[in-house]
Amino acid sequence: MKDLIEEIRACKRCELHETATQKVFGKGSQTPKILFIGEAPGAKEDETGVPFIGPSGKLLSKWIEYLGYNEDEYAVVNLLKCRPPANADPTVEQLESCREWLDRQIDILNPDVIFLVGRFAAQEVAGVGGSITQYAGRVIEKDGRKYVPIAHPSYYLRHGGKGWEGPLDDAKKQLENLELRDFVANANKFNKQIKELTLATQEGPEKKIQEYVPIHVHTTFSITDSATRLDEIAKFAKLQGFEALAITDHGTVGGWVEFQNACDAEGIKPLLGIEFYLVDSYSKDTKERYHVVVIAKGEKGIKSIFKMNDLSHKEFYYRSRLSIEDFFSMAENVVVTSACTSGLVSAHILKDNPLAVEEYTQALKDKFGDDFYIELQPHDFDLQEKTNPVLLELARRFDIRLVVTTDTHYILNDGKEAHNALKAISYRKKMGEAGFSIDTNYIPDAKEMVELFEKVGVGSSTVKEAMVNTRAIAAKCNARLERYENALPKVKK
Ligand SMILES: [Zn+2]
Ligand SMILES: [Zn+2]
Repeated sequence: MKDLIEEIRACKRCELHETATQKVFGKGSQTPKILFIGEAPGAKEDETGVPFIGPSGKLLSKWIEYLGYNEDEYAVVNLLKCRPPANADPTVEQLESCREWLDRQIDILNPDVIFLVGRFAAQEVAGVGGSITQYAGRVIEKDGRKYVPIAHPSYYLRHGGKGWEGPLDDAKKQLENLELRDFVANANKFNKQIKELTLATQEGPEKKIQEYVPIHVHTTFSITDSATRLDEIAKFAKLQGFEALAITDHGTVGGWVEFQNACDAEGIKPLLGIEFYLVDSYSKDTKERYHVVVIAKGEKGIKSIFKMNDLSHKEFYYRSRLSIEDFFSMAENVVVTSACTSGLVSAHILKDNPLAVEEYTQALKDKFGDDFYIELQPHDFDLQEKTNPVLLELARRFDIRLVVTTDTHYILNDGKEAHNALKAISYRKKMGEAGFSIDTNYIPDAKEMVELFEKVGVGSSTVKEAMVNTRAIAAKCNARLERYENALPKVKK
């Protein structure tokens, strides 16, 4: 850093060095976790050689503390090292000639995350145009670095020093999720290494560690839609090397207790979820039901699902039903996926209603943020063929992470027969008349999952990334049902 400072001190690339009192390099740690990039020195900075002093500096200190960093974990530098006369905006030429210094500072400081303070910093470093307040707090990943644009402290000070918590909260949440993603990716690599090591050193059968988690799973509690017994599926998951398993029955949480017990018995992590039926309104004329998969993250998520489940049964008409409006207002602390071809987004793709597709995608992303995932399924039938490419495109355009599932209704592919029998009963048809079941609603291992998707034209790198995301969901869903030994109230004798 010392050599760099000498070089910057000698810089005469633009005319600013003629009027500036001195170069303002930066302040803070030499090995910061968080780096703030401001714009240009003001009069005080020019005088003292220190960036971000005065009220703006005070607010910045507050931010650092609010984000959970210590005084020795941050650093501040500016886009421009010299003060433009009369606090003029930096020109393109000035930014260009000073850019090399900034890039080299970033390389040396190598922070975990960079906050771009003010619109010039956001534009210059992350290429984000438009009003900074629109992007404030949104984490942008570029060339392996994480950037967060945020309005200048002076902007918030002009507005009574208020309003900065929201963007910082947003950023904090996203950064935590990214950390989790990186952790899972590393854990995955680690698992693979362990697996190879074990294989190399151990004789006998390979100990499987699956690279994904089944997060969309129906059981006997999806009445006449699955013959999968809870104890069987938990045992199967354990034998196949799945670290966790979800339960997402149609319109009911009835299987949760037994499911949690079955998973506990096998030592795998239970993920408590449901596949709700959503309707446009509770009117009996409303024919169409849209599916959505919802998994509780924590205790609040469990309570939220219980409340929605209660209401959906009060509004029962052929099936338990929850209005789209109530779902959006009541769901919290949950992971949500776009579900099957009857999902809220997919159903509108199939109806050729791109406006509704975009609106629902945006609404789900706005409401659930990084806890909303687009779900791809590998079924080889025309509806899926139509939805998958659009879902992939939406995921890219709206920056939503993907997950893969098989919408499991039976454990192994030969379970299809039993599923068909149940479907025939449900639709009051004879076996053979009712070719309802598709071949791919079973639980494949990770390798098979990739192959199934390859057959329907979804590439292996996409599938592998989506599999990692299912493990990230498993990592962040820690909801458990409490067991009360004695839940009765105490009564005076
Ligand atoms: Zn479904
Ligand atoms: Zn389903």
